[in-house]
Amino acid sequence: MELPNDVGVFTLDPLDPMLNEQVSLLAAMHYRYLFEELARTGRRAGGCPLAPWLTTLLLRHDGGVVGFVALDVRTRAIELLYVEQPYRRHGLATAALDALSGAMPELLALKAPLTPAGRALAERLGLPVVEPETGQQEAARADLTAWEQNLRVQCRHRRGGRPDRPCKRCYRNALEGYVEDLVVEHAAAIRAGVSV
Ligand SMILES: [Zn+2]
Repeated sequence: MELPNDVGVFTLDPLDPMLNEQVSLLAAMHYRYLFEELARTGRRAGGCPLAPWLTTLLLRHDGGVVGFVALDVRTRAIELLYVEQPYRRHGLATAALDALSGAMPELLALKAPLTPAGRALAERLGLPVVEPETGQQEAARADLTAWEQNLRVQCRHRRGGRPDRPCKRCYRNALEGYVEDLVVEHAAAIRAGVSV
């Protein structure tokens, strides 16, 4: 697959999972994404920024990384698309998706669940939204419930909140470790695959 790298004043290049600096930048962005989604929905968002089955592209502006796109190479669907707050509303996500769909003969799709901004983007660009398979949805739901239950057991802040959810402080703190595991473990899996 020929990937585009010219998105107006922005560039889009593949993340190198061998470079710790890039992996750390990605983890920090994914953490900010989860933090925003926690504020919006009250729960941990799904989706993976880096994995052996994904191609992760870094969006750069003036040499600095300002976002990322994780593309599922098996289904040609966008797993995640994130743009840092100060760079939003400049058409960057649109330009990135335009460039990606132009580079792929098959139709590009966006994976649900989407943020309101993601859904608006899919509608504006006429891109299909694919729902995960029922089995995958159930597995993700069970994983999230188990993760929340584990946090609730460990929580020492018993006042208020919902009895079925960990407190907000524990939830926020746990997201950092969750991202670290998700990104670092997947980077290690990719590196192991590369070195074999
Ligand atoms: Zn707590």
